[in-house]
Amino acid sequence: MARSGGPGSFVFGEEERKEVMDVLDGRYLFRYGSEETEGYTHKVVDFEKTLKETMGAKYAVATTSGTCSLMASLAALGIGADDEVIVPGYTFIASISSIMLSGAIPVLAEIDESLTIDPDKIEELITPKTKAIMPVHMLGNPCKMDKIMEIAKKHNLLVIEDCCQAVGASYKGQRCGTYGDIAAFSLNIFKTISSGDGGAVITNNEEYYERAFGFHDQGHKPNRTGVEVGNRSFVGMNMRMNELTGAVALAQTRKLDEILTTLRSKKAMLKELLSDLPHISFRTVNDEGECATLLTMIFETKELAEKFCEKTGGKPIAYSGWHVYNNMEQVLNKLLPAKTNNINDRVYEKHMLPQTDDILGRSVNISVGVVDKGLGAGYGINILSTEEEIKNVAANIREIILSL
Ligand SMILES: *Cc1c(COP(=O)(O)O)cnc(C)c1O
Repeated sequence: MARSGGPGSFVFGEEERKEVMDVLDGRYLFRYGSEETEGYTHKVVDFEKTLKETMGAKYAVATTSGTCSLMASLAALGIGADDEVIVPGYTFIASISSIMLSGAIPVLAEIDESLTIDPDKIEELITPKTKAIMPVHMLGNPCKMDKIMEIAKKHNLLVIEDCCQAVGASYKGQRCGTYGDIAAFSLNIFKTISSGDGGAVITNNEEYYERAFGFHDQGHKPNRTGVEVGNRSFVGMNMRMNELTGAVALAQTRKLDEILTTLRSKKAMLKELLSDLPHISFRTVNDEGECATLLTMIFETKELAEKFCEKTGGKPIAYSGWHVYNNMEQVLNKLLPAKTNNINDRVYEKHMLPQTDDILGRSVNISVGVVDKGLGAGYGINILSTEEEIKNVAANIREIILSL
């Protein structure tokens, strides 16, 4: 079977190997240490520094996953019981489950043809309990952050950016993750850059940083050097990144902009070769600073999308697993670990978002950098594809569409 994964994982090389070997040679794999600590190579700290510089944010906390980063972000903002958080119905399940596990109530919102949250459908969902909006930069495409921030300001809401699928994307010249109050990144195998698993939180707010840090490390203040008794702000978890993961994350972050440049040029070529085809349009790209990890085609009808997918062995996005609320049985059935919860009397049901269902039923993902069947993108090109391979894939897509 062909390789699957995100573009970062396709370009693992000497750089990652060197950072990892540094750590192993030091035989010290814990993120904390000082100059006196024998073998300490501070890869996690270097990763945090490189990430925040790359993103243009004041603070960064490395974590074990995107999901943990979302949980730490919600905790940093003090979101919990009885608070409502507006989140799109098309996102990886972790955006919604992290809200549920924080004790808050997810309120599902429609997407538009950019496949990100529809800003025109947000205000109707706001109630006196609404505390935050969680825009998700889905499939590498930045959300319309100007409109979203305007709504948030007007209604005094917090904004948590889910950047898990859009590491490095920018909107109007500014990196995604620096518009809202706080943002979560993922480094799992299917993301723009990867350390196998892993994640990060970024923010420009010192208090949120300290709280996110504390939540990720038993309530501790940032960057302790040893065991400290007392001086903890609240109870936290252990979501600390280890040095081996930090080593790979560091090497990958250094490659981020080069990866994005390559993807954008390969995607432009593929898109150009398909631009005159009947029956399809492409999803709206909200900014040229998108990650270009995927090419999404929107067919005139659901039937055409399904017929196309029969030929490629894929599925329209509507059927692509835990990225669509209709397929999230744990959410629809409110299956939380605790017996009592705040969403007992709330209704989540299939087809409650007709605009989202209509768009996703007609949408098909073609891989450019992210090759992921679970995202409906098992077919297409990857970051290493040659010009000839791109032409072949385009010719195949052309032939199928012209035969529909
Ligand atoms: C991948 C992803 C997550 C979760 O990231 P993990 O690192 O797998 O925990 C959250 N939100 C979105 C939109 C994602 O795509």
